[in-house]
Amino acid sequence: MKENNDNTHSVRLLDAAPVGAVVKVARVRGSGAFRQRLLEMGFVRGAVVTVIKNAPLQDPVEYRILASHISLRHSEAAQVEVVDVDEELKNVAEDVYNGTTQTVVGEQDPMADNVLRVALVGNPNCGKTSLFNFVTGAREKVGNYGGVTVDSKEGYFTIDGKRIELVDLPGTYSLTEYTPEEMYVRTYLRDKHPDAILNIVDAGNMERNLYLTTQIMDMNIPLVIALNMWDEFEASGDKLDIEAMSRLLGAEIVPVTARDGKGIPTVLKACLNAIEQSEHESTHKNVNYGLMVENTIAQLEALRPDLNRYTLLKVVENDRHALELIDQADNAREVREVADRERRKIEREFNDDIVSVITDLKYGFVRGALAEVHTPNPNRDKTKMGYAQDAVLTNRWLGLPVLFLLMWLVFQSTFTLGAYPQQWIESGVEWFGQWVASIMPNGVLRDLLVDGIIAGVGGVLVFLPNILILFFFISLLEDSGYMARAAFIVDRIMHRVGLHGKSFIPYLIGFGCGVPAIMATRTLENRRDRIITILTVPFMSCSARLPAYLLLVSAFFAANQGLVLMSLYVVGIVMAAFTAILLSKTVLKHDHTQFVMELPPYRTPTARNAAIHMWSKGSQYLRKMGTVILVASIIVWALGYFPRHEGQTQQEQVENSYMGRMGKAIEPAVKPLGFNWQMGVSVLTGAAAKEIVVSTMGVLYTGETADEESTSLKQKLQTVTDEQGQHVFNPIVAYSFMLFILLYFPCIAALTAIKREAGTKWMIFEIFYTTAVAWLVSFVFYQTAMLFH
Ligand code: GDP
Ligand code: MG
Repeated sequence: MKENNDNTHSVRLLDAAPVGAVVKVARVRGSGAFRQRLLEMGFVRGAVVTVIKNAPLQDPVEYRILASHISLRHSEAAQVEVVDVDEELKNVAEDVYNGTTQTVVGEQDPMADNVLRVALVGNPNCGKTSLFNFVTGAREKVGNYGGVTVDSKEGYFTIDGKRIELVDLPGTYSLTEYTPEEMYVRTYLRDKHPDAILNIVDAGNMERNLYLTTQIMDMNIPLVIALNMWDEFEASGDKLDIEAMSRLLGAEIVPVTARDGKGIPTVLKACLNAIEQSEHESTHKNVNYGLMVENTIAQLEALRPDLNRYTLLKVVENDRHALELIDQADNAREVREVADRERRKIEREFNDDIVSVITDLKYGFVRGALAEVHTPNPNRDKTKMGYAQDAVLTNRWLGLPVLFLLMWLVFQSTFTLGAYPQQWIESGVEWFGQWVASIMPNGVLRDLLVDGIIAGVGGVLVFLPNILILFFFISLLEDSGYMARAAFIVDRIMHRVGLHGKSFIPYLIGFGCGVPAIMATRTLENRRDRIITILTVPFMSCSARLPAYLLLVSAFFAANQGLVLMSLYVVGIVMAAFTAILLSKTVLKHDHTQFVMELPPYRTPTARNAAIHMWSKGSQYLRKMGTVILVASIIVWALGYFPRHEGQTQQEQVENSYMGRMGKAIEPAVKPLGFNWQMGVSVLTGAAAKEIVVSTMGVLYTGETADEESTSLKQKLQTVTDEQGQHVFNPIVAYSFMLFILLYFPCIAALTAIKREAGTKWMIFEIFYTTAVAWLVSFVFYQTAMLFH
């Protein structure tokens, strides 16, 4: 890479700039994905950066660049070379709008595959999902937290009698194919070739948002731009000449307020127009990169007329994915030679590496265009808009306590509020089971229905209120912008175990239920981080383990219930941390966890979005997990039910069933932990879902299914004795048992989620790893405690 050898005497590194400093970017060091991301976020030569504040634990640091606030660790900021803001830099890309070039696009047949398709593309938090929900009325997650939408969602709308499919794609800052989101959007645009792209641009942060637009423009797909957050823009007092801007960018621009639907009919109509125009031969506007780069693109275009300008430019940038496409044709060598030669020429001319040159040129185009049409309100300091709350929420002394308080409130309300509907559902399920039992003749079918299916599905339903409430709160925290602050505050702690602050959110959800927590890891950009988080989330003690804890704690630790309960949660967290460190030091060592996290402005969350989110998560839980747990509970029921023998009590029946035999078979393995075969059976059935542990114990000890309030089971556990007349349970055995329940085998639903998100290999690893850990911890605890007993 070429050095920019000006001003070397005054060059410093960004991490050394004190809070409050305003500096100018000279260069970003290094190479690869992280550097590219910094450039894309606006860290180009000459850009002004303000140091806002240190996180409460001193690392990371909040910076303002363009109109956005982002978080960088000190080690990451050390990659950015800066100079004083009033210092002159040589070779700064000029903010010139060179105009656009044109590509003639032949007649398209939008109905070729019988659907008209419009893809929503835009930065995270620009309001894509709000617009999507408004247009389609669909139940889709909206979040003010980077990358909440990682899957695409499809919905439909009808305009002028035409039915159009609208696709909500994940938010991206760019289309460089470095993150899963970018890869997804890029592949989608390439393979599904939508008939038009609706690019959502945050009017409050046009400079960075339009950077993505420059990439879209080069793809030669009909383009319409929705200028969102128009309400905020108008309130700011800025002026914008939309007509002129449409002309400069060569695409129709429509101001909208996605949250309340203003301007949306106009923008949909514009999409339809764009599609209809593409049915005839039309001209598509592209960014004009100036003589030298345009000349290069023209040479490559002549060799590969089938590829669009976006891809050809990527070839010039030496992008791996683009080169793969080049290598598919016979003239691969020739294309590569031209690209290499021209790349060197450009780098020499601009005295900088190619990735910086192209990014600079794109930002130059955007700034040049904006300079002609955008007049900021000189009387208003917009830099603080939407960030005032941070004075408290990320305050050096208050940040952490407020975070803990909020989390405590969320969980407290989740469980206290959830307890009421939980009870109604419980009695409802019980009543329904009894009713079915009363109208059906005795027999296998009735038992299957009542004890297998109704009890099994009821077991899932009981957690629905908790899940709904938890997600309601999480949605509020996400939509408001607080979740990114939570990640900012805890990043330093998470870094200790080799993860990024963003992993905090899945862990948090994990205390409610592991399944949505594992799904939530999709917001992590780095696959290594995702795997580690997925594998450690099950150690967070989910609410399904609570019935077993409550039963055992109330039976054997009456004096200090809270403390014992809390110690279990702590053990879970410690094991998760230990595992994360272990994994990041061994099998998952290499990648770096660098990435730029945006701290979006605070926005008032809407009840509507929170309700939509809550419902979408709730139904997801019911659909996906309902089926898995249904099948699992039927299997568990069958293992405990067969083979049948006449004249047995229910206890004897279970004892002689396949499940009972399995429990007795594994008794030697669990004996060193202080367990008898009944506990072995409970642990086996609990593999389906951990709340089943208690009901199994109920059947084995009292002949009836039980929940945590069942006094008869509690008394039975306190008094039951073995053949030698010794008490089976004592505090040591109970605690050893709870440790095992906490740590062993995540339930089948969680494993299904692990398989889907991380693959079969990791699912199998998880089964063995967690069970081994559980056994070891219980073993060490039990044996040591018995020594000092
Ligand atoms: P996405 O990440 O692009 O899908 O963006 P979302 O639809 O999740 O929106 C991010 C945040 O911006 C949410 O808090 C929305 O409520 C808010 N928002 C969306 N559209 C508008 C708008 O037009 N005006 C204002 N003021 N806020 C909006
Ligand atoms: Mg979204």
